[in-house]
Amino acid sequence: MAYKAGEIPPVEYAVIGGSSTFSLRFPEDVPFPGELVVLATGLTFPTPYGESPPFKLFTFNGKKVLTVKMHGWRRGVPRGKASQQLFWVLREAGVKKIISEGGVGAINHLLKPRDVLIASDYLDFSMRKDVGLEGDYLLAMRQAVCPVIRGALYEAAQKHAPGRVFDRGIYAVTDGRHFESPAEIAMLARLGADMVGQSMCPEVYLAREIGACYARVDIVTNYAEGVISDWSHEELADIFYHEAQRMAMIILEALDRLDASQDCGCPGLRYHTLLKEDNREQQ
Ligand SMILES: [Zn+2]
Repeated sequence: MAYKAGEIPPVEYAVIGGSSTFSLRFPEDVPFPGELVVLATGLTFPTPYGESPPFKLFTFNGKKVLTVKMHGWRRGVPRGKASQQLFWVLREAGVKKIISEGGVGAINHLLKPRDVLIASDYLDFSMRKDVGLEGDYLLAMRQAVCPVIRGALYEAAQKHAPGRVFDRGIYAVTDGRHFESPAEIAMLARLGADMVGQSMCPEVYLAREIGACYARVDIVTNYAEGVISDWSHEELADIFYHEAQRMAMIILEALDRLDASQDCGCPGLRYHTLLKEDNREQQ
């Protein structure tokens, strides 16, 4: 399974790295049993949205996986553009299953730092609503998160998570880069959010647009503003550096449990758009 230089490799699985595995080399630093071979690193590809972020290609127990660090976000590239570059490459590669991860602030008062959540739905308060690819599809967002990947992540998290694991939760998406104000968190709490982060949207839309299944695993790194107590930078840093390996173990364990079949119904939730230019001309 060697890699041919310059080409987007055909791959069925992708891991979108976020803040919870940022402090280690994924997957090389993860002591997960099995056969793991890194085939190529620093792979960038030209896309209609600009040069892609650098990918790593590896095989893990016979599965080929593309991964990218920190959602492909990088200095000098707007986050929306970075997401388009990333998902354009995943689509060209033929990716069917995507696992993403990150750190979140706890809005739900029952949560505490180091809890792990598998998001089941989201509230999008980001401003970047027009981040898509070619727009050929009408995207239904019921079952936004793949139930099969969620199940695999939940089982994997029960084995490797540092603390409690929740198999559902509503993820509120904000733009950042700053955290939210106490009044914003109070608003999100009233609207039903359990946690707050910055990456689930537009990833969840773009995954649907390319016909891939998507799910994510997040670790609570802090209380959101105004919840329980002020968060401490020390604890945030401790989780960032010391829980990365467990989060990476959860991802590899979940990958190991998945296959490429999509009986879950996720790909059927994108429909061909009726708003074609040629339709308009016929009227
Ligand atoms: Zn699915």
